Amino acid sequence: MTRIAIVGVAGRMGRTLVNAVEQDAKATLAAGIVEPGSSLAGVDIGELAGAGKKGVTAVNSLAACVDDFDVLVDFTAPAVTLENLAFCAEHGKRIVIGTTGMSDDDIATLDGYRDSVPIVFAPNMSVGVNLTLKLLETAAQALGDEGYDIEVIESHHRHKVDAPSGTALKMGEVVADALGRNLKDHGVFERVGQCGPRTRDEIGFATVRAGDIVGEHTVMFATEGERIEITHKASSRMTFAKGAVRAARWIAEKDNGRYGMQDVLALGE
Ligand code: NAD
Repeated sequence: MTRIAIVGVAGRMGRTLVNAVEQDAKATLAAGIVEPGSSLAGVDIGELAGAGKKGVTAVNSLAACVDDFDVLVDFTAPAVTLENLAFCAEHGKRIVIGTTGMSDDDIATLDGYRDSVPIVFAPNMSVGVNLTLKLLETAAQALGDEGYDIEVIESHHRHKVDAPSGTALKMGEVVADALGRNLKDHGVFERVGQCGPRTRDEIGFATVRAGDIVGEHTVMFATEGERIEITHKASSRMTFAKGAVRAARWIAEKDNGRYGMQDVLALGE
C-alpha cells in the first residue's frame, strides 16, 4: 500500500485526488494538507471532497504529518511546490508534482533535487494526453518538413492562472524537438496588430479561458489543401487525479531521479 499525502487538499485537484486515492486498491489516504492559517485544518478530508468521513483530518503543515506518508502529491503553486520539495529531500519522502506555471528558474531549482528525491513531474498526468504526445511526435516527424504550419490551441476554465497551459507548452516542445527546432526560438505566443505573415518554422499558440472547461488541446498541422488536427479533451479532473495516483504508486518503488509520465506509463521518451 502506498501511503499518499495530498497537499492543497481543499483545491480543485486536491479534492478530486481524495476520491482517486479512495478508488485505488493499492493506495491509501494518509494525510491532507491545507494552507497555513486555513480554517479547514481539523476538517475530515473525505468530507472536504464530498466523499464522506474518511477518518483523516486536514493539517496545515507537512511537519504535522511527516510520519504518516510515503509519497506527497502536490498540485498547488510553483513557490509552494518548491518548498515542499525541499521538505521531501530533508525527510526522505517521494513526490509527484502536477503544479504548472513554473519559470525556467523554478524548473532549474526542481531539477537540482533529482539526486536527492524520487520525483515525478508532469504538466499533465492524463494517460490520454501522454499518448497524444507520442502521436504528435510521429505526426511532426512525418509532416513538419513538408510545409505544414503547426499551431497549438488550448482551452481551460476561467480560474486558471497560467497561460499557455503547461500541457500546450509540452506539446509544443515535443513537436519542436521532433523537428530539431527550439521552442524558445520558434514559439509565437502573441499575434496582435500588424504582426505580418506567418513564418515557415514558427509554432503558434492560442489560449481560450472560459467557463468550466476542464482542459482541451488541439495541435493543428495545416497546409494548402488539408489540415490534420490532433485533439485531446478532458471532461473531468479525475483523469489527471488517476494518473497522479498511478504515478505515486510507481515512484514509491523508484530511486532518486526526475521522471515524467512517459516513464510512469512506459511510453518511452
Ligand atoms: P486550486 O487553486 O483549486 O488549488 C490549489 C490549492 O493549493 C488551494 O486549495 C490552495 O489553498 C492550496 N495551497 C496553496 N498554498 C498552499 C500551502 N502552502 N500549503 C497547502 N496548500 C496550499 O488549483 P487547481 O485547479 O487544483 O490546480 C493546482 C495546480 O495544478 C495548478 O498549477 C494547475 O495548473 C495544476 N494542474 C495540473 C494538472 C496535471 O495533470 N499536471 C491537472 C490540473 C491542474
